[in-house]
Amino acid sequence: MQNFKIIILGPGGVGKSALTQRFISGNFIEAYDPTIEDCYLKTVKYKNKEYKLEILDTAGTDQFTSLRDVYINSGDAFVVVYSIDSISSFNDIQSIIDQICTIKESDPSPLIIVGNKCDLDEDREISEEMGEMLANSSRCSFIETSAKLDLNIKEIFYDLLSQLINKRASM
Ligand code: GDP
Ligand code: MG
Repeated sequence: MQNFKIIILGPGGVGKSALTQRFISGNFIEAYDPTIEDCYLKTVKYKNKEYKLEILDTAGTDQFTSLRDVYINSGDAFVVVYSIDSISSFNDIQSIIDQICTIKESDPSPLIIVGNKCDLDEDREISEEMGEMLANSSRCSFIETSAKLDLNIKEIFYDLLSQLINKRASM
């Protein structure tokens, strides 16, 4: 069975743990300890084949960008999360994307930008078009999600799997 390591990155409070827990356990965990960083295993079926995903939910803060280097080096694919109700979280992900591109320069890895908390539409600070534009300029995928309402969570991982499978097929 093919095994892929997926790293979840993004500023604090955007819902990295909520979306990871939603995908792994199917539940929405309202208040997940913000300092917990953990790795989860899930076997998923995609186009009639099974894949083993190792998912690392990171909790690093900006002071530890060198630690982030270590995570990025070990990852096969990346989920970079902001929250649609926070312009500062959107501004913060640019440096994470740059860091991934620098480290994976010779081996561009599948990446998806996730605009989480799309249920908070009345507090929206980032339009869907802004997310799409950032993804276009970074040549990666984009999706808006809600861990709370279970919207588009599985699709994050299916998108990365399809990118990973295409990449392996072209090698
Ligand atoms: P992390 O620091 O990125 O891991 O963020 P958490 O997963 O701990 O979530 C931070 C806060 O946002 C918590 O209070 C969650 O309940 C809340 N949250 C996470 N995802 C969503 C979502 O999709 N919608 C809403 N409304 N709140 C969310
Ligand atoms: Mg967390």
